[in-house]
Amino acid sequence: NNEEAAAQAAAADADSGAPTIFDKIIAKEIPSTIVYEDEKVLAFRDISPQAPVHVLVIPKFRDGLTQLGKAEARHEEILGHLLYAAKIVAEKEGILDGFRVVINSGPTACQSVYHLHLHVLGGRQMKWPPG
Ligand code: IMP
Repeated sequence: NNEEAAAQAAAADADSGAPTIFDKIIAKEIPSTIVYEDEKVLAFRDISPQAPVHVLVIPKFRDGLTQLGKAEARHEEILGHLLYAAKIVAEKEGILDGFRVVINSGPTACQSVYHLHLHVLGGRQMKWPPG
């Protein structure tokens, strides 16, 4: 289907090391609604929210980290920092009582932007399993 085809195409681009739309968001060349920011990460609202709260947390420096499945030992620190930033976002958004963190890695998981990002979702009753 279309979603799978788009995911495959995005994955092919990622292998070329091409910049993504998130680079433009980091550079503030395209607008986003920033929820949290520090020297290493940026958190902003997803343009197509799947829950009342849907925030993306991304590293400001991709450093080869196009997807979790490409992580290497040098990325350990930023991976921990991203996860803690997700908690700060949940706190700021008032959803600490219940929220979900999702990472889609690769086309089979429907990853569409090849710059690692955590989805922080909440503000409604979540269901399990996800699709
Ligand atoms: P993925 O499918 O896990 O790769 O998630 C990519 C997410 O980025 C999707 O939820 C999109 O809605 C979101 N997204 C794509 N472009 C933008 C944008 O320009 N601003 C905010 N979110 C975006």
